[in-house]
Amino acid sequence: MTQFPVLPAGVSAAAFARAVAEFSEIVGREHVITEPEKLAPYRKVYIAVPEDSVAPSAVMMPASVPEIQKILAVCNKHRVPIWTISTGRNIGMGSAAPAMRGEVILDLRRMNRIIEVDPDLASALIEPGVTYLQLKNHIEERNLPFWVDAPSPGPIVSPIGNTLERGHGYTTNQDHMYSFSGMEVVLANGDVIRTGMGPLPNCKSWQAFRSGYGPYIDGMFTQSNFGIVTKMGIWLTPVTEGAKSFVVYYGKREDLPQAVDTFRRLRLAGTISVSGSILSGLTLLGFGQRRSSFYAGTGAIPREEVDALLQQRGLPQWRVGGVVYGDEEETAIKLRKIKRAFEATGPTQVLIEDSSGVVPSWGEGDLASATGHLSLDAFRILNFIGGGGVMWHMPVSAMKGHYVEQLCTMSEDILRRFGFDYLSMNWCNDRDMHQTTGIFFDRTDPAQMRAAHDCYDALMQETSMAGFGNYRCSIHYMDKAAELFGPELRSFHRSIKRAIDPNGILAPGKSGIHI
Ligand code: ADP
Repeated sequence: MTQFPVLPAGVSAAAFARAVAEFSEIVGREHVITEPEKLAPYRKVYIAVPEDSVAPSAVMMPASVPEIQKILAVCNKHRVPIWTISTGRNIGMGSAAPAMRGEVILDLRRMNRIIEVDPDLASALIEPGVTYLQLKNHIEERNLPFWVDAPSPGPIVSPIGNTLERGHGYTTNQDHMYSFSGMEVVLANGDVIRTGMGPLPNCKSWQAFRSGYGPYIDGMFTQSNFGIVTKMGIWLTPVTEGAKSFVVYYGKREDLPQAVDTFRRLRLAGTISVSGSILSGLTLLGFGQRRSSFYAGTGAIPREEVDALLQQRGLPQWRVGGVVYGDEEETAIKLRKIKRAFEATGPTQVLIEDSSGVVPSWGEGDLASATGHLSLDAFRILNFIGGGGVMWHMPVSAMKGHYVEQLCTMSEDILRRFGFDYLSMNWCNDRDMHQTTGIFFDRTDPAQMRAAHDCYDALMQETSMAGFGNYRCSIHYMDKAAELFGPELRSFHRSIKRAIDPNGILAPGKSGIHI
């Protein structure tokens, strides 16, 4: 066996040894990891592939942009590919692991400075290793009236990593793709560029005006392997005068289209202030309990049994959750309108303020999340089956009742075919609905691993072909996902890649992009 049990594809052990020695000179030996036991956390995944198939060859942790530039020169010289992570959590989508075995992980955790928080503009300029919790604490220490807009794993993940994956939070800045302004990016040749207004000397609006001048290129650095993002301007949410939540319970499966259409109308009109959620009944059970505590069988729980379980526990088939912002007077008017609109659709119940405690503080349409509270509660759902396996399928539908119903029915049927239950969180925006459906499985059981793998494939393939493309996917599926979006787009991505990274050193395979 060589000194390195895993090597990057196409790199000899001798060339890799030289590269590692040069990386060590740049960042210090203590910031380069090659020992298998220390690499273990970087290949620990929840997805249904063996850890060895996504094992990195090494990890390095630079502390500055000049160090990254020197690292890139070494990578170009020895053709060593690197996979950049900010905090590397990406839970259920690949965690810190690279798309291709052997890539060296560029872990940016040491670059964790909050460079500036602008108290007038509610914005922050940060580095990749900064977490939402760090930013929240920083804001609170300065008594600034802002919330951070964090996703479910908020306390432990980075705004930059989440934004680059087009993640979501729960306040008014929740679509992270549209709530940042300005990036600093290191390109494969070592050039450092600034996007938006950033290139101007004495720039006064880098974190304020996103578009800049000329082609808008920021999007190119999201879900891509075109650059390493080293700074980003993140928008913060001004604390609102007040906030209230509402919950609507529907008792029948067929009620879903009405729930969706009513939500859309109220959201488009601005009556509902931020995105909300529609949860399937079993999801509510899954937040609180392990499946084996209420069902002893194997395979998917039959539909009639799910219905009976929900009924016994007073749980609905669908639970709609949403939030309104404003002072007492304003929220009262909005809630009255919301109640009236939903009541006309025949739900079981419309509750103003959910105090049932069924759903933990966890995400869209939840009052705590919508008012800047950070928590890891949502991850209680990972215990539904046990055994450490989860993969998220994330298709998008237009926010129209009959489309959403089609997608939900399809997803449930596919999951059942492979023996999995339908636990689904439907994030309701104004014009689109993102579905997050979990496949929960025991990673120690080879049969479940295979079933989960094949189920993910079927979900991706079949829902995409029905017009519900995914907006984000697991590292093991990136090539196939890119194929589903067609050869023309893929070829365009490849042309850009070849032009700006001719040696293919940045994250080969990310989003299915190779040279
Ligand atoms: P989080 O921990 O916030 O979930 P990650 O650090 O795991 O996010 O990043 C998610 C993905 O985004 C990574 O797998 C990688 O493909 C990409 N990525 C993360 N940080 C950077 C960065 N600074 N520059 C370029 N791509 C990045």
